Amino acid sequence: MTQIPNITSRLDAFGALLDQAREYAGEYINAAHEQALNPGAAALARLSEFDTPLPDGPTEASEMLAQLHDIGSPTTLPSTGGRYFGFVNGGAHPPALAAKWLSDIWDQNAAFYVMSPITSKLEEVCERWIVELLGLPKQTVAGFVGGTSTAIAAGLVTARNELLTRQGWDVAARGLFGAPEIRVVLGAQAHGAVYKALSYIGLGRDRVEIVPSDDQGRMIAEKMPALDAHTLVVAQAGDVNSGAFDPLDAICEQAQKAGAWVHVDGAFGLWAAASKNKRGLLRGFENADSWAVDAHKTLNAPYDCGIILCRHPQKLASAMQASGSYLQRTDGQRDGMYYVPEMSRRARATELWALLKTMGRSGVEDLVDRLCSHAQSMADGLKTHGFQIKNDVVFNQVLVACDTPELTQAVLTNIQEDGEIWCGGATWHDSPVIRVSICSWTTTQADIERAVAAFCAARERAKTSP
Ligand SMILES: *Cc1c(COP(=O)(O)O)cnc(C)c1O
Repeated sequence: MTQIPNITSRLDAFGALLDQAREYAGEYINAAHEQALNPGAAALARLSEFDTPLPDGPTEASEMLAQLHDIGSPTTLPSTGGRYFGFVNGGAHPPALAAKWLSDIWDQNAAFYVMSPITSKLEEVCERWIVELLGLPKQTVAGFVGGTSTAIAAGLVTARNELLTRQGWDVAARGLFGAPEIRVVLGAQAHGAVYKALSYIGLGRDRVEIVPSDDQGRMIAEKMPALDAHTLVVAQAGDVNSGAFDPLDAICEQAQKAGAWVHVDGAFGLWAAASKNKRGLLRGFENADSWAVDAHKTLNAPYDCGIILCRHPQKLASAMQASGSYLQRTDGQRDGMYYVPEMSRRARATELWALLKTMGRSGVEDLVDRLCSHAQSMADGLKTHGFQIKNDVVFNQVLVACDTPELTQAVLTNIQEDGEIWCGGATWHDSPVIRVSICSWTTTQADIERAVAAFCAARERAKTSP
């Protein structure tokens, strides 16, 4: 007969494993600030050690953790370290991360109040705090999802259902075949996540009406087509390259007159609302119908943490409804799954609550302002050293180019090889640019200076050894 290990020794073993993980985490945090932003060939080669067949039987857990740390930690991109400027990635705010660890031990399912009263409560509190922090209409509800991609899809589905309901068509029940038409209006720089959502909610990537954008990537409101009550407008607060904000006041005003639905993709830019200095970028945004935002970008919540916000609680809830005789709702309590596409879901509100509680309103404002002033300082430093800055630096994004497209490309390659900093590339007005996104709370002025030096060294190397 197999022996059942007694519960105390199992708990001891579990505690020892957690201690081991804690020890590795400490080593990692200490190393992350100086770890190269390029894992290097030797470290990457070791990833092949994971290519084994599925084990026939158990592996010692401590051995598993040791392997994960030995091979895994050096092949991370240390995006928490202060010199990672790729994509639009946030860092991980330590108190939020600590709360997430505890929450991981709880292992709560956020679907229903009866599954996790604490998660239900924290979602309710986070919803209220975020609506207040951003200055959105009081009745606005929030759903906590994996990221802005999911939040956009949830917002667009809600809009689609509403625009069709107004035409007497229950799309949730009848589907799109034979449905009346609705229109979709987008700016020329709309994010790929918007197209992805349109493609899978049946509105189609290619049947959109595109509004031209200006040199910063902002939708030109005067060039919007005439809107009507069958139109969905998707606007952007923070272009993923330039950081530019669409003129939301003009867009929302036209949409409101026509009865159109406005969804705002504010993945990283919506947090501008928390800063007195930056809130002007969002003027009029509170008149939209739904908003998508990431807490894992500007706000520095650990991955993954996106939020769908909607000023029409019933419309979001009806788009996200689901049924099953075993599903148990609790009167007067929040059942999180009715605000999101998922059913089972991790308790993201725990770390979001922890972050907002420990930072407070002023902490969030300081963070937003600091990211923006570092971006400005990066742009100034690079300009002084003869680099071209291709955007108006209004938020946390800087687009950098050299004298020729070839040199820009070579500098980007060298930066990624050198590993002192990490930046990605993009095409901006048909030319290559190097993207700098200042998104981590750990970035300091010294990191900005090192980054400027890294750009110069990469250019020097490109010129001397082409
Ligand atoms: C990051 C981003 C997205 C996608 O968000 P995910 O959290 O990666 O799903 C969408 N729109 C914009 C403007 C973004 O910056």
